[in-house]
Amino acid sequence: MTTDIARFIEWVNRYCRDAHRPDNIPRDPAGPLTGSRFRRTLAWHIVRRPGGLVAAAVQYGHVATQITQGYAGNYASGFPSELALERWLERVDDAADLDRYFKAGGHVSGPAATELRGRTARAVAKYVGRTMPTRRQAETMLADPSLQVFQGDGVHCVFNMETALCARSAAGPVLGDCRSACKNIARTDDDIDDLRAAISDIEQDTLAPPIRHNRALQLTHEKQQIIEAHQGERSL
Ligand code: SF4
Repeated sequence: MTTDIARFIEWVNRYCRDAHRPDNIPRDPAGPLTGSRFRRTLAWHIVRRPGGLVAAAVQYGHVATQITQGYAGNYASGFPSELALERWLERVDDAADLDRYFKAGGHVSGPAATELRGRTARAVAKYVGRTMPTRRQAETMLADPSLQVFQGDGVHCVFNMETALCARSAAGPVLGDCRSACKNIARTDDDIDDLRAAISDIEQDTLAPPIRHNRALQLTHEKQQIIEAHQGERSL
């Protein structure tokens, strides 16, 4: 990896020189770019990209497979610390984004709307601007009720085990099995945009068989009602 990265940098810089471009990849004062310096990048992708955690689980399952020493592959590599920290950072980043949205007058609808505002305010007051914790601290903080907010597909899950409709046998929300009747749902304008995009995807699928088409119409109708309720509350 180290050799390939060095060659890639060389290639980019040669291209920039030949094309008389002023931009290039400067020398790194911290030394050569090695695989272990991408630990946080890898953790970011595992935690924040769809399917990332599954990929990580597969990776941990293959203990014989090590990308490079100390980078990933087994528990002793220390990589789980990166994941715990990245998960914590992700939740705090999301809370900070929501806080900015609410402070700018952003609207939120759904049965858990008030709880989402409350948790966001508490999470921001407690964690934003705080120095990076250790892995153990991050794991403890991740259980804090104010950080139990998860971004799903067109939905914010303000998780509460007592009222969750998806999590009968799981310790947390099962976002892929989110139920529209759940009391833990809150929606921001971005979530509503996701629903609009989902409706337009459904509408483009004109060749579906009748049963699927009818189900699609029903889903469209449900989504449209959610969108109208969100807009209706805003104009109150
Ligand atoms: S059904 Fe949806 S909103 Fe309710 S707990 Fe599960 S993921 Fe969260």
